[in-house]
Amino acid sequence: MIERSLVLLKPDAVKRGLMGKILTRFEDAGFKIVGAKMTWIDKDFGKRHYADIAERRGEKVLKVLLNFMTQGPVMALCVEGINAVENIRKIVGGTEPKSALPGTIRGDFAHISFAYADKENKAIENLIHASGNVEEAKVEVALWFKESELHSYKTAYETHTF
Ligand code: ADP
Repeated sequence: MIERSLVLLKPDAVKRGLMGKILTRFEDAGFKIVGAKMTWIDKDFGKRHYADIAERRGEKVLKVLLNFMTQGPVMALCVEGINAVENIRKIVGGTEPKSALPGTIRGDFAHISFAYADKENKAIENLIHASGNVEEAKVEVALWFKESELHSYKTAYETHTF
């Protein structure tokens, strides 16, 4: 039941100075951050992360998405909690910020639509990636983090002490 999910704060989140606000959403919900780092990926690494996107969304989406994901650094997080994968997707919201519900990260901090992204020939800039299912989470965490970069520790709530 305790799972780990990969969360990426995409280049738009970093450039807009939203890392702290987004991280707070997960901390406020009681999730434990067990890995965190900033990294600037290249297109080859982006292709490994988004290995199935061309199949699911088409070649054009893969191309614009790789341009987007390599335009600046991202913050990679490994987030742990009860049913973390499903719970985090709920907090993140739907892919398209225009239709993502208010209260979700994508609904609250962005508003771009599929139609606008398509017209501008750019990716949907939606601030954040979160693993889609438990299997994917395992593969993604292993892709982004070395074992030595992931930490097991007790939160203050678990130990009742600082
Ligand atoms: P999610 O990130 O919500 O799981 P996907 O895995 O299907 O969604 O897509 C990966 C990312 O590709 C999205 O978060 C978004 O940034 C981008 N994307 C998806 N579909 C489109 C599209 N039709 N046009 C532009 N960008 C897209």
